[in-house]
Amino acid sequence: MKSKRVVIVGGVAGGMSAATRLRRLDNEIEIVVIEKSGHVSYANCGLPYYVGGVIEEEKSLLLQTPESLHARFRLDVRISSEVLSINGKQKSVTIKELATGREYVLNYDKLILSPGASPIVPPIPGVERALTLRTVEDVERIVSQVNLKPKNAVVIGGGFIGVEIAENLIHRGIDTSVVEAAIQVLAPLDPEMATLVAKEMRSHGVKLHLGTSAKSITDKSVVLANGVELPADLIILAIGVRPDVSLAKVAGLKIGSRNGIAVDRNNLTNDKNIYAIGDVAEKTDSLDGSATLVPLANIANRHGRVVSDHIAGRKVREVKTIGTAIVKVFDLMIATTGWNEKRLSQTKRKYKVIHAHPNSHAGYYPDSKQMSLKLIFDAKSGEILGAQGIGIEGVDKRIDVIATSIRGGITAPELADLELAYAPPFGSAKDPVNMLGYIAENILSGLTKTAQWSQIAEYQEMGYQLLDVRGASEVARGAIPGFDNLPVDEIRERKAELTNKNILVSCQVGVRGHTATMLLNELGFNAVNLDGGYLTWSNSPAAEKVLINN
Ligand SMILES: Cc1cc2nc3c(=O)[nH]c(=O)nc-3n(C[C@H](O)[C@H](O)[C@H](O)COP(=O)(O)OP(=O)(O)OC[C@H]3O[C@@H](n4cnc5c(N)ncnc54)[C@H](O)[C@@H]3O)c2cc1C
Repeated sequence: MKSKRVVIVGGVAGGMSAATRLRRLDNEIEIVVIEKSGHVSYANCGLPYYVGGVIEEEKSLLLQTPESLHARFRLDVRISSEVLSINGKQKSVTIKELATGREYVLNYDKLILSPGASPIVPPIPGVERALTLRTVEDVERIVSQVNLKPKNAVVIGGGFIGVEIAENLIHRGIDTSVVEAAIQVLAPLDPEMATLVAKEMRSHGVKLHLGTSAKSITDKSVVLANGVELPADLIILAIGVRPDVSLAKVAGLKIGSRNGIAVDRNNLTNDKNIYAIGDVAEKTDSLDGSATLVPLANIANRHGRVVSDHIAGRKVREVKTIGTAIVKVFDLMIATTGWNEKRLSQTKRKYKVIHAHPNSHAGYYPDSKQMSLKLIFDAKSGEILGAQGIGIEGVDKRIDVIATSIRGGITAPELADLELAYAPPFGSAKDPVNMLGYIAENILSGLTKTAQWSQIAEYQEMGYQLLDVRGASEVARGAIPGFDNLPVDEIRERKAELTNKNILVSCQVGVRGHTATMLLNELGFNAVNLDGGYLTWSNSPAAEKVLINN
């Protein structure tokens, strides 16, 4: 009997995971992978580091070849071949060999679409001069321009790829500007977290132009909407990607509300012989069940495996997404999972927020580094809704633990119960994740009340006294305007000086503030602790406003 043929469009993250999994499940099935670019199974996530010379050899990015994939998996991989169209009724695709121009038709029993997402190119004059980054060929173009030693570069877009490219251009000694239409870099972060990234970029020489966009591109420059003209020998365009649904649209496949291919829980499209995975397909948000786009490698690979299991007749679980992501920006690691506060604040859901600034490992063991963590959870149930972390060390593991907790249904207070590996070089007996759990427990049980950096004026208007409980020398180094100073250790003796029953307490990171709040409440006051203390406030838009007004 003739074996089944599965054709896969796109031979990188999703496509190649599907192909190799399917082969492991079925040694007989015919698997044909069609890849438009000249390479298959390349490390697109590593491309920015080849620009900077961190990855020295292009061949390090090329994980497999058609030959190696045939030798091990008997895959029929056809590179430099583009699928031009799909005929769902006939169950066939038309393929063009890009080197020869020859077109031919190939039948399939099942088709898996994993063509990824294409960079968004805005219709601004001169945009043809801007380079985008998606494939090995793209990076070769960028590297050949970098090798001409341009004096200056403009990166349009301050998202994940934009900030990675900017860092790598700086490594190459190129004077680099980043233009970002939003008022912050890295949209998945909330503003008080994103400021830390902006500071890090500026401290390494990146010139940030936030809140303005590229209006036009000339032979020598990028002209911004705010009138600034940036000299630009090299221009990289990285304002985001959109699902590459061109093939799917023509084939009559259903496109969803987020403009990706709509799929069911098994990643099947409305044509029951066609699956869609990776950046091209819509995903299901695990927090609210809505359709979402998550152009990240993990979920592309995971769905690749799932569809092959489905084709092989295995039982599969629906894989929803929480969009966990991480990026390196010079010395910082920045990681996020779940929803951010910007997004939650647009819903009706009531949530609570914690900011903490713990050390990566025990403070007494050398080289511990302070990090900034933000946890967002449901105000009633404690369900974890999202987290963000920024720091030099240990952020990845904390966000990964929280992402795992979200997946496992562990609530914010239950983070206190996690027994995490501890010895002084690696963590603390009360790990930063445990600390978030302790704070969440205090808040949800009603033991303590906290206020956010954005609520200080509100408390002031309600008649609260603002009280900074740090030592005088710390206050002298920087304080929030309007706060009186009474160090926590002196509260018992000097309580008579406090004439206002209602007090908003602040300290450096929120820890001493918590102690002071508990003490003041016991002494008969109504005290509220400023979440994350001075440090969170100092990176927030509220602090920026103070600086501007002064
Ligand atoms: C520069 C860069 C850095 C990234 N860094 C990270 C990171 O650090 N972490 C992370 O999680 N994700 C990262 N990503 C995203 C990640 O690479 C993608 O989410 C993932 O590769 C998506 O897999 P995919 O299979 O959907 O598409 P891709 O891996 O993009 O593969 C799609 C392939 O399909 C081919 N194709 C398209 N149309 C056709 C056609 N008609 N016929 C034949 N072939 C076609 C394309 O040439 C392409 O090679 C990065 C992406 C880029 C570009």
